Amino acid sequence: MSDCIFCKIVNGEIPADKVYETKNVLVFKDINPVAPVHYLIIPKEHIVSLSESDENHKELLAEMLLTASKLGKDVPELENNYRLVISTGPKAGQVVMHMHFHLIGGRELGWPPG
Ligand code: 5GP
Ligand code: ZN
Repeated sequence: MSDCIFCKIVNGEIPADKVYETKNVLVFKDINPVAPVHYLIIPKEHIVSLSESDENHKELLAEMLLTASKLGKDVPELENNYRLVISTGPKAGQVVMHMHFHLIGGRELGWPPG
């Protein structure tokens, strides 16, 4: 998708503070963090949102979740305490229409979220 900001990050057209990367998944720091740790876990493939995913994305979605689990262990500030947020659709607050998991932690998190 030529006008997608996250595709541009994947392609290196705009810079991002990358944290972790595999063949299919990229993790980078959110430009406007809401907590000491605020990463975005995205598929390199352009998928609009979780609602656009299907059976063909089983392995990719599993890899994204396992990436969160790995970072939860590996990033010292997280200590296996974090929240994954997957805003799906504009009414749920999704602004960037390239699927992403927010990985948020490094402080006490309240509930319910806004
Ligand atoms: P959404 O509201 O769609 O769930 O989340 C989009 C997130 O992407 C926001 O938290 C926003 O701060 C982040 N974001 C938007 N543009 C950029 C960018 O160019 N670089 C980075 N690193 N994060 C971005
Ligand atoms: Zn995209």
